[in-house]
Amino acid sequence: MPSIRATCTECGDVDLVASDMRVRVCEDDNQGSYSFRCPTCRMVMVKAAEPRVVELLATAGVEVSRWQLPAELREPRGRGAP
Ligand SMILES: [Zn+2]
Repeated sequence: MPSIRATCTECGDVDLVASDMRVRVCEDDNQGSYSFRCPTCRMVMVKAAEPRVVELLATAGVEVSRWQLPAELREPRGRGAP
């Protein structure tokens, strides 16, 4: 399994394998993020991921989960209607 370099805010660059990481992509705005647990300090890091990065991680074998905003968020509230 190829190793993936990620950056921990405490430890700097760390090497991970695909199974250490998780990627989440919002289907509505295509915003992605990834998370991993640092192998050194055991802190969980969550970082934003551009589509390019998401693609790279997916190619490396990282599990990508896609999610959608709840539909209620898009419904107008009807506030201010006469
Ligand atoms: Zn760390």
